Amino acid sequence: MNRHQGDTPVFTFHGKPKGKLVRFARWLRQVLESRGYRFQADAKAPRLVLNFLAADSFQVYRRRAQAVFVISLMALPQAPARPVQDLYPYLIRSLSNMLLVDVEDREAHFLTLELGHYVEPQGADFADRLFARVDPMARSVLVIENRFETDLEPALWNGDGQTEALARAGRRLAEWDLLPAPFPIAEILPPADFRHVKRLYGIGGLSYGNLSARLDQSRFWMSASGVDKAKLSVIGRDLLLVKEYDREANAMVLSVPPGVEPRRVSVDAIEHWMIYREHPGVRAIIHVHAWMAGAPITEFNYPCGTYQLGEAVAEQLRRSPDPSRAVVGLKNHGLTITGRSIDDILERIEGRLLKQVPMT
Ligand SMILES: [Zn+2]
Repeated sequence: MNRHQGDTPVFTFHGKPKGKLVRFARWLRQVLESRGYRFQADAKAPRLVLNFLAADSFQVYRRRAQAVFVISLMALPQAPARPVQDLYPYLIRSLSNMLLVDVEDREAHFLTLELGHYVEPQGADFADRLFARVDPMARSVLVIENRFETDLEPALWNGDGQTEALARAGRRLAEWDLLPAPFPIAEILPPADFRHVKRLYGIGGLSYGNLSARLDQSRFWMSASGVDKAKLSVIGRDLLLVKEYDREANAMVLSVPPGVEPRRVSVDAIEHWMIYREHPGVRAIIHVHAWMAGAPITEFNYPCGTYQLGEAVAEQLRRSPDPSRAVVGLKNHGLTITGRSIDDILERIEGRLLKQVPMT
């Protein structure tokens, strides 16, 4: 599924760079062009969009397709005091995948949807370092399409022991204060933009963390996207049965009961799918935005919901002494923890999680 790798990605500008950004935009265009990207003004299907913002006014790039990676750029006279809190609204309101902030040609702040925030000093090798941050992101492929099939066997319409264990685990994680409440995206976005995001991604909110448990050889239960993980009850709405990944359609296939308006499965379903398929001993998986000392770390912070993030985690798991009971660090993002059961994971992590994810 690396259909975007090895080709020549097309990128374009959206909006007009102003002030300090004029020079930065020209330089960035050169950096990308000299490394195999092709600039095309008004491109119909760009891979990467550089969207120019100003601190007081900005426009939104409306994607025609999900597979467009949008980096919004802005210039600030000084580093933000609380970078994540101060910058996140710009990232969300501009519907971007990443925010890149130039501070007086001295440093560049990066912020991702996963709340990853890191700073690159400008100066020597900055072009290489910046490209190394941006290129894997722009080339990664989202797997967020869902296909619902009303074929869940009646015996599972109200869940089973596994879904009860997931509901209990969701409440415990919430008690440990490890699952932030769904991000109030509707409060930050104007109604038209919110409708656009919903249409494109089908999300009702952003929330972080997810959990899943294996049902049988090929299927697993997983929490839905954007739901309160402390209240996982209705099958098809809060918890979904993932049946398959349809490679042709690049979509997750879900079995749902009749009569339920289904919600989308967590965007990380593709990652869990890869893990369950490759490691029959894994019976449950929890993903949190927290950290644990000593965890092996993926080399790059691919966005949530991408095929590449799944591959990067799978690769780390393969190297672990026991993939069925492993902890993998997702760089600048959080942890994916496997176990023989949901309770096995909870027992192993209780009291050992650090709330602060290290940023590098
Ligand atoms: Zn995450």
